[in-house]
Amino acid sequence: MALKFYNYDIVFQEIPDEVTLAVNLTGCPHHCEGCHSPHLQRDTGIALDEEALNNLLSQYGQQITCFCFMGGDANPRELSRLATYLRQKTKLKIAWYSGNSKLPDIFTHFDYVKTGPYISQFGGLKSPTTNQRLYRNNGGVPQDITARFWR
Ligand code: SF4
Repeated sequence: MALKFYNYDIVFQEIPDEVTLAVNLTGCPHHCEGCHSPHLQRDTGIALDEEALNNLLSQYGQQITCFCFMGGDANPRELSRLATYLRQKTKLKIAWYSGNSKLPDIFTHFDYVKTGPYISQFGGLKSPTTNQRLYRNNGGVPQDITARFWR
């Protein structure tokens, strides 16, 4: 399935110490109970390809330090291809908010990867009981930095 996005925003808390352009991808294959964004489960939106990335970079590239794919679990191969494209085009950090429970094999294509579906009784990353994790790519080794959200 081709990757598409619904909207985007500049955010400050999703990735610690970074000013992040968070791009919300659609076609989410997860069906989390209590999903905060059910519209992202639909196959709708604007194609996320090199042209779209170039447009986003030319508009916001000077204002941000990080580019985050919010979703994209429907097509991780295409996601890693786009991450590689960004890596060649910019010096921005590259992040992926995945809903998968396990750290994906393509982890090394990113500087940060968040894992885990949203489970309401455990809460999101800011909840100390969360099932979600944020990993930093520390030279190819995943470092769990989830506790940064609890300070
Ligand atoms: S991963 Fe996010 S968008 Fe997808 S179903 Fe779960 S809460 Fe909704």
